[in-house]
Amino acid sequence: MRRRRDAKIIATLGPASNSLEKIGELFDSGIDVFRLNFSHGTHADHARTHGYIRQVEAARERPIGILADLQGPKIRVGTFKNKSAELETGQRFVLDMKEDDGDETRVNLPHPEIFAAMQVGSQLLVNDGKIRLKVVEFDDNHAVTEVVVGGTISNNKGVNVPDVLLPISPLTEKDRADLDYALELGVDWVALSFVQRPEDITEMRGLVGQRAAIMAKLEKPTAIKHLKDIVQLADAVMVARGDLGVEMPQEKVPVIQRQIVRHARREGKPVVIATQMLESMISSPVPTRAESSDVATAIYDGSDAVMLSAETAAGDYPVEAATAMNRIIIEVEKDVYYRKSIDASLPAPGDTVADAISSSLHHISNVLPLAATFTYTESGFSSFRAARERPEAPVIGCTPYQETARKLALVWGVHAVLSAEMSNVDEMVANAINITLQEGFGEMGEIIAITAGMPFGRTGTTNMLRLTRLKAL
Ligand code: PEP
Repeated sequence: MRRRRDAKIIATLGPASNSLEKIGELFDSGIDVFRLNFSHGTHADHARTHGYIRQVEAARERPIGILADLQGPKIRVGTFKNKSAELETGQRFVLDMKEDDGDETRVNLPHPEIFAAMQVGSQLLVNDGKIRLKVVEFDDNHAVTEVVVGGTISNNKGVNVPDVLLPISPLTEKDRADLDYALELGVDWVALSFVQRPEDITEMRGLVGQRAAIMAKLEKPTAIKHLKDIVQLADAVMVARGDLGVEMPQEKVPVIQRQIVRHARREGKPVVIATQMLESMISSPVPTRAESSDVATAIYDGSDAVMLSAETAAGDYPVEAATAMNRIIIEVEKDVYYRKSIDASLPAPGDTVADAISSSLHHISNVLPLAATFTYTESGFSSFRAARERPEAPVIGCTPYQETARKLALVWGVHAVLSAEMSNVDEMVANAINITLQEGFGEMGEIIAITAGMPFGRTGTTNMLRLTRLKAL
């Protein structure tokens, strides 16, 4: 089974989709990676869902990626006497550390680190930015704010503090417990929410080691300031447009999205565009024209993957949403101008042997019609670098490790296959020919390019390029 497109699709699972049957249908409709959202559900729920995905993987005999998305330090106000309160624009409103229920004049904000980091003039955005507060005066345990935009504030609503670098770890106690659990289950990717600085990724790496790949969710202005270092340290990034659109003016989000895509492509790190891609499909069987166009733009820009959130987790039409996304991507990738724009935005190769070989794949596929670019890979690195070159011929990522094959499910253009460790060049060439034919990537007489690292079995050694014709062996 092979997909007829290069960009990948991630689907978030939830009550609308976390059954064995629906996961199978979603995979058949085009989903490459499933997202377990640890902001919702119990560990037992995630374990059951994880088991279903692995069952579908075994039945379809294709590696499937699983992404565990940690909630991160979401800041919330406390509760109100009447569950909510009306705030008028222009009035004063106090946030403090007192645990009693709030009213129209005050509410609990149980986060001393925010009082420690705020300044006069700092903005606090409540309930996805619907209510805006500006700090007028503050001390260690309370802040007086002016209500800049009023509205109804209710129990436990989220608070964003966009222009303040919060001196907090990106991992709460809950995140640490969720991370341990997700790693024990055997997820392939872990996503870190509300990343602020490069050190957040270093801290995460210390906990995760090599047990999973790390995706940094870019949703805070402070992360955008440190984009270069964060992209370098993470294994992939997500443009988390939901919170990004709260923390920054809406009109900046499309510009930042493109900036992140360009940057991630330059570094050869997969980049995912997320949130509200087909939002109307939560309650409609077809997307709006604007939504189709949004998905298409992400693909024209060269993103590795696009993500479905509530559309598949809680919507009425999860399978239709996956099908719609699959169709839009296929249609864009057929357009000759798609290839032209991908080529035009190709970053210059890095100055390593692996990059010299990977970039020549792109040139070879312009000179010869290659059926596939076949990359032998231990850690996935060679396939990541080949994908960075966005070659016209599909990239087959051949690995002896299941974890590597599953990780590659997220990467642009890569079709991962499992195969035993090779011991010599003849065996490697024969194996590449057999797999390319078996997986339906080429026909007798067509040419493939093979990259590998020698000595075999050692990661990070890509140093060989071989062209061969597909033939009977
Ligand atoms: C987002 O904010 O866009 C996002 C993807 O994160 P979450 O779904 O965890 O809010």
